[in-house]
Order: sequence, then C-alpha cells, then structure tokens
Amino acid sequence: MKEKIYTIPVNEAYDKDCECPMCLLESNLEKEALEYNLGAAMMEEDFRGYSDKTGYCNRHFGKFFEMPNKLPLALVLDTHMEEVRKELGKVIKKAPKDGAKSGLFGKKDGFAKELKDCLQNIYDGCVVCGKINSTMERYADVLLYMWANDDAFRQKFDKSKGLCVKHMLLLTDTAPKSIGSRANEFLGAMARKAGNEFDRIQEDIHRFTLKFDYRNKDMEWGSAKDAPIRTMEKLSGYIKDTDDEEL
Ligand SMILES: [Zn+2]
Ligand SMILES: [Zn+2]
Repeated sequence: MKEKIYTIPVNEAYDKDCECPMCLLESNLEKEALEYNLGAAMMEEDFRGYSDKTGYCNRHFGKFFEMPNKLPLALVLDTHMEEVRKELGKVIKKAPKDGAKSGLFGKKDGFAKELKDCLQNIYDGCVVCGKINSTMERYADVLLYMWANDDAFRQKFDKSKGLCVKHMLLLTDTAPKSIGSRANEFLGAMARKAGNEFDRIQEDIHRFTLKFDYRNKDMEWGSAKDAPIRTMEKLSGYIKDTDDEEL
C-alpha cells in the first residue's frame, strides 16, 4: 500500500465538491511552502543555503510580497542576492572589454552563452515550485494507484467533476510509469470525463454571457455566476487561493 501521508490528502481532496481535486492539493501545498520558506526555514542553515542558490519564480515572489511581514522576505532576498551577485560576478570576469569586436559572441561557448546560462539559472529556479512539483508527482502516482486498486476511490473518481488541463497532463505523463498496462484504460476514462465536464463548463460560461443581454435579465444564474473563474481554472490550473477549502 502507498504511504498514508499521500493517500489521505488525495482521498480527502476527492471528498470535496470542486472542479479539480489536484488543484486543491496544489493550492494547499503552495500555501504551506510559502509559509515555511518565510517561517521555520529561516532558521535552517542547510535550507537557507539551498534557497539562496535556487531563488524563487515571479509568481512566488509575488505571493511573498502579499504576506504582511516584510522582514523575513528582506532577509531571504538579502542572502539570495549575495549568491546571485557571486554567480554573475564569475561571468562578468570573462566579459569582453569595451570596443572588443572579436567573434566572442559568435562562438558556441562564448560569452553570450555563459551569460545566458547564468541569467537562465537565476530566472528558472524556484524553491516553492520545486517542492510543489515533486509532491504533486507523488500525489499523481497515488491517485493512479488508488484508481487501479481501490474500488471506493474509483467511485469517487467517477463521481468527481474531473480535472483541469494542467493536472490531466501530469496524470498523462505519470500513468504509464505508475500503472503500466492499465494506463490507457485510465486515460480513456479521464478523457471521457473531461469531455462531459467541458460540456458542462461551456454551458455555464455561455449562460454567463447571455445574462448580459437585457432580454435575459430575469433568467436564473443557475450555476453560471462564477463561470469565468471556473472556466479559466479548468483550462490552466487554479488561480484563486482556496482559503475556505483547507484540507
Ligand atoms: Zn488542477
Ligand atoms: Zn515558483
């Protein structure tokens, strides 16, 4: 049996009525990781060394900035910036002098490439994304395992509103590794469900547009009131925090 620390959250997420249980799990992971990075991790030397080198992406810097206390953020930025300057400094030492016209920029391993690699490393790394991605892979593996081996879970999966495109992609990648010969059976079920759920989402978003026609002003909203956010989240993964849906 798979470890309970993964099976329990996946089961609980499938008990909630939502557009994508994997989004619910991811949103909770993100919240935890953000709080940890500017909280308990501040005192952990090894972790700080890793976060100083790795840094954070644009989305997660933005999330940090929304947090009320700016001192932990500034402390993290201060030591991360030191690392960034160290790495950039190594490249700067090899920078062509003013007026140099040699083929430095044309050479395959020339300065341009080194500079690009250095900037790419600074830009790409994100401690929070790294944590989320590795845990979501475990959740995907566990979801597939339970779908293949646990009838009660399979019923929950069949009753659910499906998944968003982002997490269907994750499961498409994970299924052959996790459940081997049963992957296609799962992917077929997942795709058929997506087809039905997308029909429902289309009805909601279309109803939303009709509601703005004065002739329809007395029409019931039905389930269309929050259709724009649900449609975007179905297509691209969660956008809104799920504060009221903590697991
Ligand atoms: Zn999702
Ligand atoms: Zn990130």
